[in-house]
Amino acid sequence: PVASMEELMSFCRSRAIILESSGVYGGAATTYDFGPVGAQLKKNIVDMWWRDFVENRDDVAPLDTGVILNPAVWRGSGHVEEFTDPLTQCETCKRRFRADKLLEEADGGAEHWDGKTLEEMGAALVALGVACPSCGAKAEAGLGTPRPFNLLFETSIGPVQDGSSTAFLRPETAQGALVQGPLVLSLTRARLPAGLAQVGKSFRNEIAVGQSLFRTREFEQAEIQVFCEPESSGDLLQQWVEDCNTWLVDRLGLTPSRIRRRVHEESELAHYALATTDIEFNYPFGWGELWGIANRGKYDLLRHEAASGQDMRFRDPRDGGRTAFHPFVVEPALGVGRLVLAVLSDCLVTEAAPAAAKGKKQAPGRLVLRVPDEIAPSRAAVLPLMNKDGMPERAAEIAAALRRMGAGGVQVDTSGSIGKRYRRQDEVGTPLCVTVDYTTLEDGTVTVRCRDTMRQARLSVADIEDAIGPRGLTRDKLQG
Ligand code: ATP
Repeated sequence: PVASMEELMSFCRSRAIILESSGVYGGAATTYDFGPVGAQLKKNIVDMWWRDFVENRDDVAPLDTGVILNPAVWRGSGHVEEFTDPLTQCETCKRRFRADKLLEEADGGAEHWDGKTLEEMGAALVALGVACPSCGAKAEAGLGTPRPFNLLFETSIGPVQDGSSTAFLRPETAQGALVQGPLVLSLTRARLPAGLAQVGKSFRNEIAVGQSLFRTREFEQAEIQVFCEPESSGDLLQQWVEDCNTWLVDRLGLTPSRIRRRVHEESELAHYALATTDIEFNYPFGWGELWGIANRGKYDLLRHEAASGQDMRFRDPRDGGRTAFHPFVVEPALGVGRLVLAVLSDCLVTEAAPAAAKGKKQAPGRLVLRVPDEIAPSRAAVLPLMNKDGMPERAAEIAAALRRMGAGGVQVDTSGSIGKRYRRQDEVGTPLCVTVDYTTLEDGTVTVRCRDTMRQARLSVADIEDAIGPRGLTRDKLQG
């Protein structure tokens, strides 16, 4: 794979796959934008997640809740009071940092500082001799005792901006599902365990953003809240960890050795969680959380019940609601940006060209985005050998036919040598290139070249149409 984060991001920028947001104004420090290839790749990944975890399961149903909820939701959930990160400020240069992250770096990740008190962190900053990453001042001289910093993004509703109009952009999609869950499950006559899944933007006023898509202030989440009988929540959590891990390997094709599970220790569990397992990915900058699978117990439902005064129990529709209880919630929460980053860093590889024959010039290596066919931004590209003699027109017809076959965005690329065009398609992950030449005009056959093997075969257009299905393409014919 491409070695460093810098190389990966500079490649992504050079092909307009991922761009700094508001770049012409010097950036927005909130998020990244996706150009044509990136936007399609992200959509294909999310679509695959949705098909596999929502459409193709009978225990998960779709949901779509608001970004700006009644602010009472965030008071009820505890976010207004407790959704904080420990912030330390350097008294010398005035820059602010997350104390837990500084400590994790200082002890080489030996400990997770999530559950520690602010005083414990303050003492540890001094004991470990942590220096300000910006100006180098030592903790005892100037990195202040951490204080809580709330990550909620505030906005206001209506024309009058006073305390009563304050509202929040959601920091997670979860609460929308938790607040509506018991009602939705009863009205849809759901049988437990029952999941509600949604994909959408979340917002956190992170103290520091960094490592490109890994930590941004505006990001997308794909979450499922699975409501279940309390007794089954432990096994259910294990099952979901298994399912999510298997999906990353079998469906997205991520390298198994770059994935690991980390079970949270009692002391670092979030206040709402009974148990949590993170699926971590080895990004170019090191291991980091990709998918957090938590057992939230009945924490949220009890809080919302106390705050709203409404009954938040699940009533089983099959016995007329006589059975009523607070279900537990098991929650696999996935960051879409982190997943795109994992796919890009795992699939973008540099390949040396095969050794040249004696006396021949050594061909340069190539950069290939080896994404699975199903998430490839374009399934095929059509390349007219010459930009004349009716070849571009024939190429356009073939591209239109392939699109009708469900091949997704099929491009026609006319510029540059055929070798250069193959390389360009390799870099954006296009599995097949279809070349139109003089013979095509005579007998209707084309040259089909495969991204991964670089093998070429002479086929009729009907054969390629055959090989490209609406969801995935069988390349057996082309491999042989
Ligand atoms: P971290 O410890 O890295 O801040 P978290 O434990 O706060 O993450 P969760 O609240 O569990 O994260 O959120 C669920 C998922 O949402 C995470 O696994 C991650 O993939 C994604 N996520 C959370 N915060 C961000 C962010 N600032 N930018 C991008 N993705 C994020």
